[in-house]
Amino acid sequence: MKVIMATSNANKVKEIQQMLEGTDIEIVSLKEAGIVMDVEETGTTFAENAALKAEAVRDASGTTAIADDSGLVIDYLGGAPGIYSSRFMGEDTSYDIKNNAIIEKLNGVPDEERSARFVCAVAIAFPDGHTETAEGIFEGRIAYEPAGCGGFGYDPIFYLPERGCTSAELTAEEKNAISHRGKAIKKAVEILQNV
Ligand code: IMP
Repeated sequence: MKVIMATSNANKVKEIQQMLEGTDIEIVSLKEAGIVMDVEETGTTFAENAALKAEAVRDASGTTAIADDSGLVIDYLGGAPGIYSSRFMGEDTSYDIKNNAIIEKLNGVPDEERSARFVCAVAIAFPDGHTETAEGIFEGRIAYEPAGCGGFGYDPIFYLPERGCTSAELTAEEKNAISHRGKAIKKAVEILQNV
């Protein structure tokens, strides 16, 4: 079964391909499928945005399509940046600036009010018109200062109390094993394998 991944991020394609090794499911990128498309994320939840992207690619190709949407939810900020994580303070603003701004907003806020989570929704849109979604959650806290240079985005300020480090201080394998994306993709792979 061929599945098109609705992303231009080669790492995301590679990650899911590795998890599907040894199955008869083949993941191809938008580029490999010859599709050029930029879907506007107009949904109000991670799952809605993932479904919008997967369905647009399914409609354009007639083939099963998979897409994800993720972000950081900070309780003290009422859930911000949430679905606006990549657009927070402007798409082109560096994560050094974004991360320091968040730490500043939480200045003086005690541990127990610094709870946050990364959320990832993966949607699979099938040629028969139905869509299934899977969600993964990665719980943590906003750090008092950035640490680590692994990962990307908000990883340097995402502190994992039980590990005593941020997610930017984990190896890629360690992070994938416990992350929101790792968990959501695992569930999506199960959905695909049961088709
Ligand atoms: P998207 O799902 O690729 O649109 O990513 C949404 C945004 O959420 C990213 O640009 C990051 O700002 C943030 N984000 C999602 N997952 C992670 C993660 O694992 N580490 C750090 N930031 C993340």
